Amino acid sequence: MSELKLKKCPFCGGPAEIVDNSRYDPGTYFVGCLYCGARSDYEHGEENAAELWNGRVESNGD
Ligand SMILES: [Zn+2]
Repeated sequence: MSELKLKKCPFCGGPAEIVDNSRYDPGTYFVGCLYCGARSDYEHGEENAAELWNGRVESNGD
């Protein structure tokens, strides 16, 4: 699977990463900001988590 693109954090502009949440809910992931700790809701599958994160970020022309 190719690398998923994540938008920058909508709150601080920091980098985001996909986090495996399967220890709490198997098969789920969320996207979290490495700087401020903002995160998306849990989704099944990395792609869905990435889409959720990207969808909540308003583009500033980046
Ligand atoms: Zn942030």
